[in-house]
Amino acid sequence: MYVVAEKEIAGLMTPAAAFEAIEAMFASMASRKAYNFPVVREAIGYEDALYGFKGGFDGAGLVLGLKAGGYWPHNQKHNLINHQSTVFLFDPDTGRVKAAIGGNLLTALRTAAASAVSIKYLAPKGAKVLGMIGAGHQSAFQMRAAAVHQFEKVVGWNPHPEMLSRLADTAAELGLPFEAVELDQLGADADVIVSITSSFAPMLMDGHVKGATHIAAMGTDTKGKQELDPALVARARVFTDEVAQSVSIGETQHAVASGLIAESAISELGAVVAGLHEGRGTAEVTLFDGTGVGLQDLAVANKVLEIAIEKGIAQRSKS
Ligand code: NAD
Repeated sequence: MYVVAEKEIAGLMTPAAAFEAIEAMFASMASRKAYNFPVVREAIGYEDALYGFKGGFDGAGLVLGLKAGGYWPHNQKHNLINHQSTVFLFDPDTGRVKAAIGGNLLTALRTAAASAVSIKYLAPKGAKVLGMIGAGHQSAFQMRAAAVHQFEKVVGWNPHPEMLSRLADTAAELGLPFEAVELDQLGADADVIVSITSSFAPMLMDGHVKGATHIAAMGTDTKGKQELDPALVARARVFTDEVAQSVSIGETQHAVASGLIAESAISELGAVVAGLHEGRGTAEVTLFDGTGVGLQDLAVANKVLEIAIEKGIAQRSKS
């Protein structure tokens, strides 16, 4: 089997390679050749940890595996980040283990790549201003990945304004001007909005968003979390990675539960990528509800394994 350690990932994987892997995987999902397995998430009653598995099988790319990991809130005492994960890939012909690959950085890259794919396919024509809601760890990855589209300016807001320097620094790295603004100005100025917070209450309201806009709502990945006004969700043409996750743990859970939208009105982004759905059409507001599926983890892990083997960096041991 191969081992690609966490410390190697940064030198191997680029946002562009992650984008390519995620775009292809969404198309496989739309063709029903790839599917996700039910997610397992457990509070293990030790170190307050949440541990789980996200897995799937891509029958087009022949990628089988799972991501195991979770959230250890007291990891600072070990000088480790709180989110820890590892991806395991298996040979779909035999079931033998193929690789163990560090999953921490890959999780950020695959999440950012998903919203970037949504921007490629759903952003209004001529979109110039990117609006960022959220300034935590993921936000920098999100902004870098969104730069697949040629934005001219970034505006940003965060519930904790002292964190906004992360957005300013990332915009500077990308050579883009940055302005910290209030949410009403963000909603009026931005053509594309990425939200990536751990909020449990709506922040971006329907009245904030003016004109043709694409929103990638990436923060809500658990029951109870929420970033958007359900009325805004109801006004949008809604896309997601996987409908079952969107309505249960994603941003649409609230609009669906309150009867504002029907599950049947939500489409998969992969259908747009595969040319089976027109995408934005005449809609003024589009929404991508990115909940994070196991196949995303497998797609980027498989990509990094290919690159690591090619560069001779993957360690090999007999299994
Ligand atoms: P982080 O802890 O580094 O940053 C948290 C962000 O949320 C900051 O912007 C902070 O100001 C804001 N925030 C914190 N508490 C809040 C509250 N009560 N109300 C509103 N905002 C609040 O986290 P991160 O690593 O940047 O992750 C952000 C979110 O993205 C988390 O909810 C995480 O679970 C989610 N996430 C989603 C996916 C996916 O695939 N969709 C993948 C990874 C992470």
